[in-house]
Amino acid sequence: MNNAQWPRLNLAAGPVDVAAKTLRALSQPVLYHYDPAFIDLFARTCELLRQVYRTRYDVVIMQAEAILGLEAAAASIIRPGDTVLNLVSGVFGKWFEDFIRRYGGEPIELAVPFNEAIDPADVQAALERHPEISVLSVVHSETPSGTINPVREIGRVAKEHGVITIVDTVSGLGSELLSPEEWGIDIAVAGPQKCLSGPPGLSLLAVSPDAWARMENRTDPLRGSFLSILDWKATWLEQRRFPYTPSVSEIYALESTLRQTVEEGVEAVIARHQMIARACRVAVKALGLELWPAREAIAAPCCTAVHLPDGVTDEALRGTMRDRYGVMISGGYGELAGKLFRLGHMGIAAHPTTLIAQLGVLERSLADLGHPIAFGAGVGAALAELAGWDDREGLGTRDSGRRGGGA
Ligand SMILES: *Cc1c(COP(=O)(O)O)cnc(C)c1O
Repeated sequence: MNNAQWPRLNLAAGPVDVAAKTLRALSQPVLYHYDPAFIDLFARTCELLRQVYRTRYDVVIMQAEAILGLEAAAASIIRPGDTVLNLVSGVFGKWFEDFIRRYGGEPIELAVPFNEAIDPADVQAALERHPEISVLSVVHSETPSGTINPVREIGRVAKEHGVITIVDTVSGLGSELLSPEEWGIDIAVAGPQKCLSGPPGLSLLAVSPDAWARMENRTDPLRGSFLSILDWKATWLEQRRFPYTPSVSEIYALESTLRQTVEEGVEAVIARHQMIARACRVAVKALGLELWPAREAIAAPCCTAVHLPDGVTDEALRGTMRDRYGVMISGGYGELAGKLFRLGHMGIAAHPTTLIAQLGVLERSLADLGHPIAFGAGVGAALAELAGWDDREGLGTRDSGRRGGGA
């Protein structure tokens, strides 16, 4: 094996490749967390996060991988005996049920096949049938299925029924133009390691006033816990103190990655993900492969899930792509294992050059495995779809003059 970085391209479904600028930020000397310079940096990071979330709500940066944020939302919001409508269109939606039960909630499941999306009309019907529902949980972007749920419409229905919504947008933030206010989201949970191209290790929450009220007004508010969102309100939001030492280096990286996002323009980052995803789907179809999502309208911008073709196993395809050509992609997860593979285009990997390389290696690998391939069919279709791309401009980037601002 040669000495190049290996694998050459991390095109997995997260964590994804991180920009050199972000890596430099990560390597800065560690500050004392009460050093005024760190307090300033943390405050600036929260402001940037609000811009990326397009929200005036409070944001909370919890200090562990996004699963912490999801469990914290469940632990803080769900009271024993609460009825929770859990929308399940994939692996992460199903897993959330464990959190609901752990915190004493009674889940009502509204499920669709894992290549489908939740219909807001079904949510409406469920809320009317069960007026006892007070909380709704939904995954915005079901990364393992490469599908997306219509959270804006679901949130509107939930608001009409006075229901608190917990939304897993770990791989959704940066891929669709969401806003917690506009979408009726009470607690949004994202992570830096998907469309924002940061390293994993933090949970990025946006919290509505209704969510704070519900957390505070329960008889036993969750406090004094690593899972407590209220602890962050009582410390950081109200007094610029921390409940415990934050992950200083991860905050450096997050500030850098959020700043890069804002400098490129949130809309531009989203347009870039959507355009690359569209080009990827065009290529997949041109290769005669079948998209996993039942309809293109529900295909996620963060990754493209594809049925494994007959006679090609997950191990063989991903093994060839990685071991022979140095391109790491993700396979199926949980009950989807062995059924699909996922082409990755999150964060800095949502780029034409990277997509074309990935598609070329996919074509070569399928041919190596004996699958009939017309070389260039996928690459050519994607190239046609990408007509007009100019990397100097980005996509709809208005702020390119402000680039190069820092670490
Ligand atoms: C990545 C991701 C998470 C976080 O889970 P990890 O696999 O532990 O990183 C949660 N929800 C969704 C939808 C995700 O894509």
